[in-house]
Amino acid sequence: MQVLLPLPLAGAYDYRVPQDIDVALGAFVSVPFGRRDAVGVVWSLEGSGDVADDRLKDIQGCLDAAPLPDSSRRFVDWVAAYTLAPPGSVLRMAMSVPAALEPPKPRMGYRVTESAPEVKPTAGRMRVMAVAGDGMPRGASELAREAGVGTGVVTGLAKLGVLQKVPLPDAPPARPDPCMPAPDLTAEQKPAADDLVRRVRSESFSVSVLDGVTGAGKTEVYFEAIAETLRRGEQVLVLLPEIALTAQWLQRFSERFGASPVQWHSDLTQVQRRRGWRAVADGTGSVVVGARSALFLPYAKLGLVVVDEEHDGSFKQEDGIAYNARDMAVVRGRIAERPVVLVSATPSLETIVNVRNGRYDLLHLPSRFGASGLPAISVVDMRKDGPPRQNWLSPPLRDALAATLGAGEQSLLFLNRRGYAPLTLCRSCGHRLECPNCTAWLVEHRLARRLECHHCGYHARYPDVCPSCGAEDSLVACGPGVERVAEEVVSLFPEARVACMTSDSVHGPAALQQVLQQMRDHEIDILIGTQLVAKGHHFPMLTLVGVIDADLGLTGGDLRAGERTYQLLHQVAGRAGRADHPGQVLLQTYNPDHPVITALTDGDRDRFLAEEAAQREAGGWPPFGRLAAVIVSGPKEEQVDAVCRALARRAPREAGVRVLGPAPAPLARLRGRHRRRFLMKTGRTVAVQRLLRAWLGAFKLPGSVRVQIDVDPYSFL
Ligand code: ADP
Ligand code: ZN
Repeated sequence: MQVLLPLPLAGAYDYRVPQDIDVALGAFVSVPFGRRDAVGVVWSLEGSGDVADDRLKDIQGCLDAAPLPDSSRRFVDWVAAYTLAPPGSVLRMAMSVPAALEPPKPRMGYRVTESAPEVKPTAGRMRVMAVAGDGMPRGASELAREAGVGTGVVTGLAKLGVLQKVPLPDAPPARPDPCMPAPDLTAEQKPAADDLVRRVRSESFSVSVLDGVTGAGKTEVYFEAIAETLRRGEQVLVLLPEIALTAQWLQRFSERFGASPVQWHSDLTQVQRRRGWRAVADGTGSVVVGARSALFLPYAKLGLVVVDEEHDGSFKQEDGIAYNARDMAVVRGRIAERPVVLVSATPSLETIVNVRNGRYDLLHLPSRFGASGLPAISVVDMRKDGPPRQNWLSPPLRDALAATLGAGEQSLLFLNRRGYAPLTLCRSCGHRLECPNCTAWLVEHRLARRLECHHCGYHARYPDVCPSCGAEDSLVACGPGVERVAEEVVSLFPEARVACMTSDSVHGPAALQQVLQQMRDHEIDILIGTQLVAKGHHFPMLTLVGVIDADLGLTGGDLRAGERTYQLLHQVAGRAGRADHPGQVLLQTYNPDHPVITALTDGDRDRFLAEEAAQREAGGWPPFGRLAAVIVSGPKEEQVDAVCRALARRAPREAGVRVLGPAPAPLARLRGRHRRRFLMKTGRTVAVQRLLRAWLGAFKLPGSVRVQIDVDPYSFL
């Protein structure tokens, strides 16, 4: 028998099953591993034959948890083979909640002891006894709340023997109800919803792209597919990019289905994770909404996969195992033999090309629901209409802000840059303040009075004198961050209620909800934010969106810079005029003729995509060719370079395969490690995994040097 351990090992290990233990494929078993015990999963009932029978160690026992389903195991193998990660490392993502494998500990509560002793009847105690008098066991805090006393009174009564501790019955989570009333779909929405429902019924794999402008009702449409999946008793996985931003989604879901879904993201408590994992495994968790790691939950009977905002870059995981959750969601659906729905107002070029070549089917919702039209988008040509020096709001944007404020409406200013200024330099000696660990400038955060590196988290107090020449009062801030824009807004509109929304000013989902609620309640006139404000929010009184620097994402020469900028700005623009007030969007740019900018102002997405596709096709870039990045890093530069030279010598030489590099990564130093990059570029049909394995597989690395493989890279830093 072979057991896969959730460790970065080459593969599964052989073990023997003692007579008295029954194991099934996928069972969680505990086995001796080195000098300790480990929990792994039965990956094969046959042995590999590599180890002599008498040298095999016995498995120690089976855990009291449902086996990892066949489809989950196939998924782990698939992801490992695709990303070239050790299968055990992928399994680790599927076993992220070790506590879920232990027998559930019953929750304890209290009820009145039969023949309870007499105690002094205080008012609080009497209230507790009155509530507990019905004989139903309750948790301490629940009992205290119902009786209107502190929990001390309850535990006190337990100590005196009046109440006794008993296990509480385990209440399964409330189930979303597919039969609650749904909105009447429009003539445009209905056929799309019907199509998805048919696919759910077909019990087969397919990929649909639900492509529609923001506010078209895409969510309402795929809710119908969710309802149908629930009616059939199967499970639904919905992937969302920014899990902190899903409160509105959760609220809509609860309104539509009368219960909450299982949530899955990094902000959960251990207890929530444990419950969620088990609910998914035993099928009582019927809808999971989560971040990319939700793909690895042990679905008992997955019936539908939805990826909302499928174009979003955050679906790509960069650290550790490099995988794209959008693409893996499609794989997961194929393994489950169930439909996948990719949802976006600005689908990725990858997805568009898959529609074009017939692999995915298109469902199109061209117009917004209700009376609201799309906002008018225009540019401010910063070469002609730029602001005064050391200011960032152009006169046309200032006027528009004043007019919006005067009309009693709200504005949003977008700048995808945290802090006060991205660069600080010394006027005396020209010294630029850089991160000691990374090839990056330190960003001034004026509110926190410090300098930060946005790559490694390094931070330092803002210096009094130039650290290089010692000059006083010589440091100047260059360029704007949101804090600096906010400063300008406050000085221009002292009467306006101004708020900032960035990960620095808003800590955690609760704080975020508070700002969003203030915005909805019109307690804020002008909101300034980073991409945190771009996603899916609906503010009825927001009529003006100003983009401070529309060119920001276009520099850097990254393969998808144009596409990403288009998607982001389109999404930000979509925040304007969502209710019955028409919206207006101003893009400040020095490149008003750039194809991304003109596509936004003309509202001609398809022309932009066609041009983008033509360019990539001509160059053989994804999705028309394939890329894999190999990043070599280590603390010692000479060692890294030596490894790179050796790798360069062994690089694959085949027709249709090019290996570019090694080149210093744009972030040539990150967290103190020197970094070099190779980029392998091949035709669409080349199996890059085979090439990478042959190239890197047998290579012996010096201990401190690391090689990361990123198949289909999205970041080129
Ligand atoms: P999208 O996901 O395409 O951005 P939503 O599904 O969020 O669009 O819909 C935008 C708004 O319009 C939401 O407030 C939604 O409740 C409402 N809406 C959409 N379709 C309908 C409908 N058929 N009936 C009632 N309200 C709808
Ligand atoms: Zn750094």
